[in-house]
Amino acid sequence: MSTLRGVGIGQGVASGPVVLMSEALPTPTQETSTAGPDAERTRVREAVSAVAADLQQRADSAGGAAAEVLEAQAMIAEDPTLMDEIDSRLDDGSTAEWAVHDAFAGFRATLEAVGGYLGERAADLEDIAQRVLAHLKGVAAPGVPDPGHPFVLVARDLAPADTALLKLDQVLALITSDGGPTSHTAILAREKGIVAVVGAAGATSLADGQTVIVDAASGTVNDSPSDAELTAVSERIAARAAEESGPVTPGALADGTAISLLANLGKPADAADAVARGAEGVGLFRTEFLFLSASQAPTIEQQRGTYIELLQQFEGKKVVVRMLDAGADKPLAFLNDAHEENPALGLRGLRALRASEDILREQLTALAEADAATSADLWVMAPMVTTVEETVYFTAMAREYGLKTAGVMVEVPASALLADRVLAHADFASIGTNDLTQYTMAADRLLGSVASFQDPWHPAVLRLVREVGDAGARTGKPVGICGEAAADPLLAVVLIGLGATSLSMASAALSDVRRSIAQHSLEDARRIAAAALDADDAAGARAAAQAASQN
Ligand code: PEP
Ligand code: MG
Repeated sequence: MSTLRGVGIGQGVASGPVVLMSEALPTPTQETSTAGPDAERTRVREAVSAVAADLQQRADSAGGAAAEVLEAQAMIAEDPTLMDEIDSRLDDGSTAEWAVHDAFAGFRATLEAVGGYLGERAADLEDIAQRVLAHLKGVAAPGVPDPGHPFVLVARDLAPADTALLKLDQVLALITSDGGPTSHTAILAREKGIVAVVGAAGATSLADGQTVIVDAASGTVNDSPSDAELTAVSERIAARAAEESGPVTPGALADGTAISLLANLGKPADAADAVARGAEGVGLFRTEFLFLSASQAPTIEQQRGTYIELLQQFEGKKVVVRMLDAGADKPLAFLNDAHEENPALGLRGLRALRASEDILREQLTALAEADAATSADLWVMAPMVTTVEETVYFTAMAREYGLKTAGVMVEVPASALLADRVLAHADFASIGTNDLTQYTMAADRLLGSVASFQDPWHPAVLRLVREVGDAGARTGKPVGICGEAAADPLLAVVLIGLGATSLSMASAALSDVRRSIAQHSLEDARRIAAAALDADDAAGARAAAQAASQN
């Protein structure tokens, strides 16, 4: 038996057959055909009709909105204009591979230039082109597999487009060779409660069909489990399911210290699931979804309706709404300058809102109106706050609209280091560990090649969290955590030890975190945090915390 090691997401375990995600095909080279145009044309026709038939078959079995998308793709594959483009390249002597690649690329550029809905469909063309090329080469089509049975998906990393296509009810577990704890795969796994081990070097050498055990709690993949081990896994899965269906209690440490466990939400429709999983409120409501698909800001009325829908589901409970956080990984055409060379260091978050203050004022107006119409305890906060001056600017403006509790997100080292000054003006701080890690470690949170730097366990990040925790204790102001770090059951204990008073996370992580923090007193949490702080790097901090948590 051999064991692969990576970073486990959550505490779950799963077993099942591996299905490998196939890689994107290399771009064909421009070569002259030796077979001649007619033979190449026959190859193209065969490949295109096979791909169209396959897409149509998937559409028939998918149903709903997915069926419409797949049917449209099947039609595009056989589009006559596209065929003419391919034919003219074949007549000029191209190989089938080059003609397909080049014609699809030209078509794609045309759609992108048109923009709007057609522009958005351009990415679909890439997928169809890859399928036709794969057929020509006689290899599996790249992209998300759909083997028709439950499976353990193994990939380098998953892009957002892949995760959108994945049939999650068929995915027993995810394993990636690249990608760290803040990769898209990790975020998806946390959000949906899928067992995952990310960054497991060597994962892509697993074979299709091979049975594996994926143990997120230990961050391991067992590639040749015995029958006894498989039986033990089934028992653990049943025990976890039984625990999760038990009564939920409010978050508390072993000594009774209350730690509110809150949900991160992206839209009101997700609130019911959060409540069912015992969320004591909302620690981060990301308002970007209202804006991201729009070509201009939604009206005050539209926004108010959404906020009321959210707040009504949390009567008497805390709901922290974040002002629009546009820029860098969340670009918005009407707010951000597309020409910045370094958008993560540019006019983003509160900086962008300040440059378009009417949008900020409209959002605050809608929130104040929703607050007046409902009985949740509404808190508002600004994203990417860097300075004390920005803190004063935002909190004063929120109070101008009658919003009682106004705070800031601490996502950049500057505001963490000056947290006592920031908290002199803000009612609370909420630490966004995803961005705080990105800025502390100088590692783009979306870039796989630097994923190993993007680890919130890094003692440099933990020291900054401690600064904020200490400032919160000195000023008597709450300090929440709303980045992915709060969803890691052991890191959650460390964050409490560093001074966090509430934790907000994807709803699926609530039960594991609730169980983990209940095992330790505040004194334990401080001791475990001290052990992690004393390490040289993220792996050392994790190991030290693990060892300290067992004493
Ligand atoms: C964060 O940066 O940790 C955070 C919670 O905000 P987002 O992930 O939306 O940038
Ligand atoms: Mg952020």
